[in-house]
Amino acid sequence: MCSLERNNIYAGIVTVFTVLLIVLSSIYLPAFFRERGDFYTSFEYAQMYLRDDRYTELIIEYNYVLGYPPSPGSKESLITTIEELSDKDSVVDVVGDGITPRLGINEYHRHDIEDIFDSYSHYERKGSTMVLNVLYLDGEWAENPNVLGLSYGGEYMVLFKETIHKVSLTSSNLGVEDVETSVLIHEFGHILGLVGIGYESNHEDDEYEHHCDESAGRCVMSASVEIKMGGYSEEPPTEFCELCLEDIERIRFMEDDWGVEEHLTILVVGGQAAIGAVWVAVCISPKGKEEYDLYQDYYDDIDKKTY
Ligand SMILES: [Zn+2]
Ligand SMILES: [Zn+2]
Repeated sequence: MCSLERNNIYAGIVTVFTVLLIVLSSIYLPAFFRERGDFYTSFEYAQMYLRDDRYTELIIEYNYVLGYPPSPGSKESLITTIEELSDKDSVVDVVGDGITPRLGINEYHRHDIEDIFDSYSHYERKGSTMVLNVLYLDGEWAENPNVLGLSYGGEYMVLFKETIHKVSLTSSNLGVEDVETSVLIHEFGHILGLVGIGYESNHEDDEYEHHCDESAGRCVMSASVEIKMGGYSEEPPTEFCELCLEDIERIRFMEDDWGVEEHLTILVVGGQAAIGAVWVAVCISPKGKEEYDLYQDYYDDIDKKTY
């Protein structure tokens, strides 16, 4: 009798433990996998900049090749733009010491850029702090020498300041800072998912993917800012149009569909449930019952003997 009760208690403990493990895993594992595997969607990155529920502070870290530092006015405009859009308590920028130019090499490939970010970035996203990494380069983008800026990975922006210099020299009335500010805010727009990155937008340029068709007026997300800059005779735009601002509001509240991290969590939770079920089955198995029966037989015998 005593043994059966003990088995039931074990089974109860295992059940409670398994259920607790499953509940905790379901709550914490998706975020864990997302962070470890970098399974964030573009709008989840955007929300790290726009909202304050995970990160209350933003540091914009600039690194630059010596001779091509960020302009103070452009940095200031980016901070102002972010402050207008985001719920952050604080947005600050820091500028690194400057990177020695690579003699005789004028082109940057993606791996060159990634190596520089790896070597020179001092801050990383952790605790309540979000980090945006911005790199100013001499030379040009190996895949297209006319490109003025790039963004990738939700946390990295590149400005080809030497190319920006060249573009502004071709115009009689554009200053370097005008073009630079426009490109800087444009790249941040891509970081936020504009236009139509990971969602459906009604004003994406037919010809230039992920750029604004300017159907609601001039917009910093126009492809002209980044790709076909030569066309500007007036100051390039530095503000988002109404439609891009509406997209940002949608992005701010988008919710994640099931992704890899949820499927991995299901696998782990399924494993935990299976192990828990086997454990419970062993606790209350017929073997346990048998021991109980034998125990009783023994007593029966004793009873007979003493009788
Ligand atoms: Zn662009
Ligand atoms: Zn727009």
